[in-house]
Amino acid sequence: MSGEPLVEVRDLVKHFPINRGIILQKQVGAVHAVDGVSFDVMRGESLGIVGETGCGKSTTARLLMRLLDPTSGVIRFEGKDVAKIPRRAFKPFRREIQMIFQDPYSSLNPRKTVGAIIAEPFAIHGLNKGKGERRRAVQELMDLVGLNPEHYNRYPHEFSGGQRQRIGVARALALQPKMIIADEPVSALDVSIQAQILNLLRDLQRDLGLTLILIAHDLSVVRHMCDRVAVMYLGKIVEIADSDTLYRHPRHPYTGALLSAVPVPDPELASRRRRQVLGGDVPSPTNPPPACRFHPRCPKAQDLCHQQEPLLEQKPGGSVAACHFPLSDAEAAERVATAEPV
Ligand code: SF4
Repeated sequence: MSGEPLVEVRDLVKHFPINRGIILQKQVGAVHAVDGVSFDVMRGESLGIVGETGCGKSTTARLLMRLLDPTSGVIRFEGKDVAKIPRRAFKPFRREIQMIFQDPYSSLNPRKTVGAIIAEPFAIHGLNKGKGERRRAVQELMDLVGLNPEHYNRYPHEFSGGQRQRIGVARALALQPKMIIADEPVSALDVSIQAQILNLLRDLQRDLGLTLILIAHDLSVVRHMCDRVAVMYLGKIVEIADSDTLYRHPRHPYTGALLSAVPVPDPELASRRRRQVLGGDVPSPTNPPPACRFHPRCPKAQDLCHQQEPLLEQKPGGSVAACHFPLSDAEAAERVATAEPV
């Protein structure tokens, strides 16, 4: 990892308008999908973004890829404002960031051979290699991700779920991107296969010096993959820290609750841990609670939490969290129970 950010995100906001009326389409509200998010991603770093469904993590990924335009805020890639990249320079930018999607079943064209699917980015980006060269490049990629290069002419339905996700990884690597965004890459796969795909991503990230953003709803998935982890709740980052700090000394009560739900293989350790079940549902992002958005579900909430929004600030132990009354060492220890969750 180098000390220079590849990506800088500042005060990123994405609101989706809610319109009513067939003809006039009057705006009656907005979904606050991402609401003032700031973070850096360093070159060669792996950053996990974790949170429940609807917290804004996938929208953040789509904003980074410029698949969506932000409502406000700035995203800089290699120092350049992504929103100001002119149309003609857009393709080279897209080459630098590639995405791996959640569902390996629907993200591959069933009518194309694996060879054609992996070679697709070459044609899209005008890298028209000769037939033999293209085949060699694709087979090299297949080998790199653990697929048999001789299966070049097979169709997606002839592969298992894990192999299809490997095809998705090979396609993402075809253009030698600087950054990969993996959006819940294992959540559609059998548990037995998940570790294989995560290990593959970790090895590729390390061996190719890639920058990786891994999006997941489960903290156990990112633990062994990521240098740093950002936890999102209702469109905001509530805690960000290096992995060890976050898993050993969570400061935000929401991070503590997520960690208390991570499975622990040792029954004795599990029995020592205090499982914290969050009350209620995630509030609607169309009308998020005022001040601290977590206050309706937070076991530590006090009057101040209803009145004043907590800012992301450095807390004792190294974590950066947005909380007026962060977890003490003893409360954090109760929730993690062990320094080594799965
Ligand atoms: Fe809980 Fe208050 Fe911290 Fe919000 S600011 S997480 S309500 S203690």
